[in-house]
Amino acid sequence: AWLRADLIPIAERMAPVKHKILVLSGKGGVGKSTFSAQLSFALAAMDYQVGLLDIDICGPSIPKMLGLEGQEIHQSNLGWSPVYVESNLGVMSIGFMLPNPDEAVIWRGPRKNGLIKQFLRDVYWGELDFLVVDAPPGTSDEHISIVQCLQATGIDGAIVVTTPQQVSLIDVRKEVSFCKKVGIKVLGVVENMSGLSQPLPDVRFLKPSETGKHTDVTEWALQYIGERAPELLKMVAYSEVFDSSGGGALKMCQEMGVPFLGKVPLDPQLCKAAEEGRSCFEDQKCWVSAPALKSIIENL
Ligand code: ADP
Repeated sequence: AWLRADLIPIAERMAPVKHKILVLSGKGGVGKSTFSAQLSFALAAMDYQVGLLDIDICGPSIPKMLGLEGQEIHQSNLGWSPVYVESNLGVMSIGFMLPNPDEAVIWRGPRKNGLIKQFLRDVYWGELDFLVVDAPPGTSDEHISIVQCLQATGIDGAIVVTTPQQVSLIDVRKEVSFCKKVGIKVLGVVENMSGLSQPLPDVRFLKPSETGKHTDVTEWALQYIGERAPELLKMVAYSEVFDSSGGGALKMCQEMGVPFLGKVPLDPQLCKAAEEGRSCFEDQKCWVSAPALKSIIENL
């Protein structure tokens, strides 16, 4: 096949990478990075050789989610070396290059595209079974550029992460249409933050001092809202979680003819695992469920 000159070094670099999976979302904050991180942990736990590439340049959260904050990238004559969580899980992120992790990266298109290309061309991954690419949210010019680069290297497909809210689902339709337009297979859609992992225990709000397990939010609410706090908090929590017309992603997938990979509940333990930079397997939780993994791998 004929390749644009600038894409040849990228294609060469990516040649020892068996499968490339792009993780997309219509907007920020839906759990795309969390999913990319947990998918990488899950694949690594299956003894695959895994690379996780974070090109969400405006908000690189991957170093933190993998417990690699403050680490630096080293350069060798082979290229930039990823930072390793385990010998079979390497990570590359713009976050490793920022002097201050809080610094927002406000770069313009061409510079971003340049950096993304550099990542694809210069990182020395070695042999990989999977490269998981955490893309920026949306379907901008940036995406077209990324996709062009990745397509030159033979990308397997994209996983789209969404939440149950209507606005988010509309964005997913755009992502799915985008994938169809540029010729990328949609490996599936994940509905994140869908329902609660367990009912909110009343005690958390009603008797904070007796149980000794009160949360900051309870104290705050008791102080500001007073006695009705437990009731109100419960209402707020539930309305946020379930004001979603429920399970919209499944229906959308059926309409658009793409696989639905499953729902992930809103789970405080998962949030904690992400904060602490570890796999939720350690909590005996399988966030990326076995059937979802099977479906992803079999679809490649
Ligand atoms: P995105 O990459 O789409 O911007 P993130 O993956 O950074 O979103 O997730 C945003 C926040 O939501 C993070 O703090 C993450 O830990 C939390 N989060 C994501 N999914 C869940 C979930 N299912 N349950 C609880 N917290 C979650």
